[in-house]
Amino acid sequence: MGCRIVLLGMPGAGKGTQADLLAQALGVPHVASGDLFREHLEKGTELGRLARSYIDRGDLVPDEVTIGMVAERLSRPDCASGFILDGFPRTVPQAEALDRLLRERGVALDAVAYIRVREEVALARLAGRWTCRQCGAVFHTLFNPPRQAGVCDICGGELYQRSDETEEAHRRRLKVYQEQTSPLIDYYRRAGLLVEIDGEQSIEDVQADLRAAVEVACGR
Ligand code: ADP
Ligand code: ADP
Ligand code: ZN
Repeated sequence: MGCRIVLLGMPGAGKGTQADLLAQALGVPHVASGDLFREHLEKGTELGRLARSYIDRGDLVPDEVTIGMVAERLSRPDCASGFILDGFPRTVPQAEALDRLLRERGVALDAVAYIRVREEVALARLAGRWTCRQCGAVFHTLFNPPRQAGVCDICGGELYQRSDETEEAHRRRLKVYQEQTSPLIDYYRRAGLLVEIDGEQSIEDVQADLRAAVEVACGR
């Protein structure tokens, strides 16, 4: 049986960290819209060039571009039996597009896990985030340090700070989240899919709560 999960929460809530662990446990892919954009940036594609100015400002990339990119990823065979979506949807039109796309395939989301943290916690997490250039894994200088500074524990890749990790971009991203993404909490609550997770616990404890919720939702 498939397991189709969306992780919702403000930038810095821990979605990427939790999605990696959950995807591994369930054996389904972790699909992160931010990672897809960063692959386009690295490769210098047309989509990457279009997205860069939005990303560096901390604004959302326009819906039609984002929806097309994610829809293509979800149509690949590895997503047939499920996925963990992280960072998408971020607007109501994106959520509606996702609903349509899944309905056309005769499937549906099993749950939307809302990882709840206060804004000051998110800002502290974003301020110390380091990302692996090779595999996209994230670390934190204080809360989740790599074994060797500057080196990814998982793949040995180089850790870097994203070009959109400035205090100004962080504040902008949190504002954009409040305005454009937080309405999805109600959207999915009304759909009966929302599960709230206390994101201010340790990485392990958040994962345990998430795993329990997903087991109920996906029936395993
Ligand atoms: P998001 O994908 O929601 O933006 P990330 O998973 O990238 O969030 O996490 C943001 C930062 O916070 C990273 O540096 C990560 O290592 C750290 N982090 C994630 N979860 C926790 C946690 N439960 N406690 C402390 N730090 C965390
Ligand atoms: P974070 O982990 O800090 O939440 P992401 O890696 O998810 O950030 O996203 C980085 C940037 O990529 C966003 O600030 C935005 O510009 C763009 N982006 C990612 N996902 C979406 C989306 N679903 N819709 C529009 N823009 C997006
Ligand atoms: Zn790595």
